[in-house]
Amino acid sequence: FFCLIYVFWLLIIPSFVLMLSKVQTFKEDFFMVAKILDGKQIAKDYRQGLKDQVEALQAEGYTPKLSVILVGNDGASQSYVNSKKKAAEKIGMISEIVHLDESTSEADVLNELKRLNEDDSVSGILVQVPLPDQVSEQKVLESINPAKDVDGFHPENIGKLYIDQQTFVPCTPLGIMELLNHADIDLEGKDAVVIGRSHIVGQPVSKLLLQKNASVTILHSRTKDMKRYLKNADIIVSAVGRPGLVTKEDVKEGAVVIDVGNTPDENGKLKGDIEYDEVKEVAGAITPVPGGVGPMTITMVLNNTLIAEKMRRGIE
Ligand code: NAP
Repeated sequence: FFCLIYVFWLLIIPSFVLMLSKVQTFKEDFFMVAKILDGKQIAKDYRQGLKDQVEALQAEGYTPKLSVILVGNDGASQSYVNSKKKAAEKIGMISEIVHLDESTSEADVLNELKRLNEDDSVSGILVQVPLPDQVSEQKVLESINPAKDVDGFHPENIGKLYIDQQTFVPCTPLGIMELLNHADIDLEGKDAVVIGRSHIVGQPVSKLLLQKNASVTILHSRTKDMKRYLKNADIIVSAVGRPGLVTKEDVKEGAVVIDVGNTPDENGKLKGDIEYDEVKEVAGAITPVPGGVGPMTITMVLNNTLIAEKMRRGIE
C-alpha cells in the first residue's frame, strides 16, 4: 500500500509541475506581452561605448567639445541644455553653454555662431529652440557650419540625408533607429507607419526607415481614416504630442510601437501618444514614456559630436 502511495506521488508531482509550465507558456502566447524597448538602459550602454571612443581620441590629443547656444530663460530649454552638457561631460567631452539674454538681437546671435564656427576647439554646435521672436530660427540654422551641425538641421545636411549621402542625421530619428537596431528588429519589406511629418522627427525618421527598405506611409493632421493605416502596420512611430492618440484597437498583434510623444500632464508627468498599458498587451515591442526615445536623443547628440570631431581630424 505504501509503495503504491509512493509511486502515485512520484508520478503526480512532475505531472503537476509540467502542467503549470504549460499554463504559463499558454498565458504568454495567448495574452501577448510586448518586449519593452528600454531606452534608458540602451542609452547607458551606448554612452559607455562613446566614452571609450572619447578616451581613445584623447590619447591622440583630441577632446570633442560640444557648444550649445541658449537664448533667453525658458525653463524647459534650460533644463534640456543642462542635461546635454552633463551627459557630454560624463563621457569625457568638454561642453559649454553660451547663454545669451532674451533680448539679444539676431545679428548678435549670428555673431556668436560665427565665433563658434571658427573656433578650432569646438567640434559640434547646437542652438536650443525655440528662439525669441526677433531671431529667425531658419537664419540661425542656416548659419551653423554644416560640419559642426550635430543636430542635422542645416539645409545642406537635410539635403544630403534625402539623397542618401553620409551626413549628420537629426538626433531623435537616429535614436529611434538605434533602438530598433539594438532590438534586432528587421525592417526589410515591413509596413511602417509614421504619424507626424515635422522636419525634426516625422520626415527624417520616415527617410531612415525607407533606407532600411521598409515601405513607409506618413500620416498627419489631414489624414483621413488614420486607423485604416495603423491596423496594417508592422511598425508604428508616433511623433505628434497628443496623449491617447493610439489605442489597443489601432494596433496589429505583434507590431513594433515607438512612442516619440512627450507631453507633460497637469502634474508635469510626461505622456506619450500611445496608450502604453493597453497597447503593450498586443504589441510585439514598445517604448515607454519616459525612458524610451528620450534618452536616445541626447545619446545621439553625443554620437554626432564625436563623429564631427573625428571627421575634422580625419580619423575613421
Ligand atoms: P510638431 O512639429 O508639432 O509636429 C507634429 C505633427 O503631428 C505634425 O506633422 C502634425 O500634422 C501631426 N499631427 C497633429 N495632430 C495630429 C492628429 N490628430 N493626427 C495625426 N497627426 C497629427 O511636433 P514634433 O516636434 O515633431 O514633436 C512631436 C512630439 O514628439 C512632441 O510631443 C514632442 O515633444 C516629441 N518629441 C520628443 C523628442 C524626444 O527626444 N523624446 C524629440 C522631439 C520631439 P500637420 O503637419 O498636418 O500639422
